[in-house]
Amino acid sequence: MSAELCPMSHTPVCPVGGSPQGLSPARSWQPIRGVSRAGNAVILAAMLSNIRIVLVGTTHPGNIGATARAMKNMCLEALWLVQPRQFPHAEATARATGADDLLTRAVVCETLDRALRGCRLVVGSSARMRSVEWPVLDPRTCAAMLYAEASLDSVALVFGRESSGLTNEELGRCNYLVHIPTNDAYSSLNLAAAVQVLVYEIYLASRTDTETCEPVPREVAGAEALQGFLEHLNQAMLDLDFANPRQSKKLQQRLRRLFLRARPDRDELNILRGILSAAQGRKSMRRE
Ligand code: SAH
Repeated sequence: MSAELCPMSHTPVCPVGGSPQGLSPARSWQPIRGVSRAGNAVILAAMLSNIRIVLVGTTHPGNIGATARAMKNMCLEALWLVQPRQFPHAEATARATGADDLLTRAVVCETLDRALRGCRLVVGSSARMRSVEWPVLDPRTCAAMLYAEASLDSVALVFGRESSGLTNEELGRCNYLVHIPTNDAYSSLNLAAAVQVLVYEIYLASRTDTETCEPVPREVAGAEALQGFLEHLNQAMLDLDFANPRQSKKLQQRLRRLFLRARPDRDELNILRGILSAAQGRKSMRRE
């Protein structure tokens, strides 16, 4: 791949370290010493390809096409669709205007959990603030964090339905929420417009010195490992007669928030699961 190529294979539209119109003189991301400019461009492209844009339950195929276009403009390529109402669709292709290669490669899945498999960081984009407090990032911080963590593994930015956004259960899969500041009395952007704002910030983050980005992140467990642990925790609370989480959504949500914030690694999760299993084992022995 040449230094002038976008992560997408064939269109030389995103010169790494180039100077798109309207931006101040180019300052590309911090090159890694000892690696050639072309080599650095490959690393940058790999980081951007680790950033998944996940659209959940999209109703209008035109929004899917406009999202693909926004992503390609900003050098992103990994589009994931969870239960789109109509896809593929001529309207999506028409609105993608030249970014239909992203549509061809889009991954369509049945569940959000499937789309998040392997992701170390998940951020949900939300038009409104919710009753249960969840850590909320501003777009710039969110972009810097996603970009920095994409150097280690896949990360996801999740968008909700046009009519109702993300459900509480879906938000519960996210480490953070991101909210684009707007008119308080009219806060909901069009889906593809919200994607455009956030992917633009990610593109800017990719052009910023690494010193201004988040510190290099540590290893953490992927979304599916954390989800497996949280299900185990719910089961253990049931088995130990601590609480019935099905009747206590708030308790479940507080514990979910705690572990999403702590971001344990695999070893830590294994230790916790070992403790839960041991306690469950003792309880069942006492019952026998
Ligand atoms: N009526 C819905 C809004 C749906 S807009 C609601 O009240 O939740 C479709 C999606 O665009 C949202 O789920 C969210 O992912 C994104 N979005 C729209 N406006 C946003 C904003 N101000 N900040 C962050 N994301 C936004």
